Amino acid sequence: MKKNDYLYLDHAASTPMREVAFEAYKRTESEAFANSAGGHELSRRAKNILEESRDKIANHFGAAPKEITFTSGGTEADNWIIKMPFINNQNKNAELVTSAIEHEAVLGSAEWVESLGYKVHFIGCDNAGVIKIEDIINQVNSNTEIVSIMMANNETGVIQPIKEISQNLKKIDQNLIFHSDVVQAVATTKIDFHELGIQSAAISGHKIGGPKGVGIMFLSSEVKIPSFLHGGKQELERRAGTVNVSGVASLSAALEEQQTHMELQNKKILKEREDFEQIIKNNLDVSVVGEVVDRLDHISNIQFKGIHSETLMVALDLQGMGVSRGSACASGAQKPSHVLQAMNVSDDLINSHLRFSFGWSTQKGDGTKAANIVLTSVRGMQ
Ligand code: PLP
Repeated sequence: MKKNDYLYLDHAASTPMREVAFEAYKRTESEAFANSAGGHELSRRAKNILEESRDKIANHFGAAPKEITFTSGGTEADNWIIKMPFINNQNKNAELVTSAIEHEAVLGSAEWVESLGYKVHFIGCDNAGVIKIEDIINQVNSNTEIVSIMMANNETGVIQPIKEISQNLKKIDQNLIFHSDVVQAVATTKIDFHELGIQSAAISGHKIGGPKGVGIMFLSSEVKIPSFLHGGKQELERRAGTVNVSGVASLSAALEEQQTHMELQNKKILKEREDFEQIIKNNLDVSVVGEVVDRLDHISNIQFKGIHSETLMVALDLQGMGVSRGSACASGAQKPSHVLQAMNVSDDLINSHLRFSFGWSTQKGDGTKAANIVLTSVRGMQ
């Protein structure tokens, strides 16, 4: 099989890098490879690229440049904002409110906060994967330090009403931090942080056609939290460590291209996903998760009744198609999905789900092609 014959439907795990992102990476490494914190001409070149990228990225998200800090990815940004307000917190009754369907980066951080003795509320969701605003509000009180609710789920694509949540939180407490992990949402949604009313957000380069190992932490200028990494004085003394300027330039180029083509690209992605789901629904006993609620255009989580997802995933791989069981972390560990558990999916069906995720590299006809591969594979298993 030639490399290009492989049908890649795992963009929610990682997207291929866009050509412009590759070029920006190579150009920066060759023309501005010096340490951006240095004091000579080559360092200044790197610093200029870094700050130009920051300006562009901030502008894209409606933020001020000083509200953008570059990190090693979404995981670091989530860890930073969730953990640090609880370090040396004078208020031993400080609390965290989050949901049971967050990505492992948030869940793991929240569990760590809990292990320090702080109260953490894990809010559930309904059977469609939507979190009720009143369930969040009911857990918020004067001790709440942070509320962290993801904008869209990485396994199902189901979108949460972030703006309404932020408006409700503002009415209760002007000082708490409302964090949203927008890592997955950013792949097919235009986001303005201040418009959404969030105080912090996590973003990852490799979900939008940029490089892995680079991400963004948005932190509103109203909010101050301690640094997560200590050492050098980089990033306005907020995050120590030599900045990955080539990675940042590459992320910025990927974002710019995505922004330019977002409308057309989303139309294409949605059309392929609709074709895919229609054929599957017409021919197999399946349910599409989140079909009746707001859902990201690129994710299709399907329950195949009577089929074990691991077996189907291997069969699809053998037929030249890459998908996943949900979160890349969860599928590696072979554990039932915590997201589907929170959605009350029964034990006998929880291991019958596969996630198909489309993206910028999806081609016209991929939806139909993918559906036919699924039909052949499922029939071969029956
Ligand atoms: N948050 C969500 C919703 C994700 O989908 C991911 C990646 O799978 C992450 C966080 C982690 O991002 P990164 O891989 O950049 O650490």
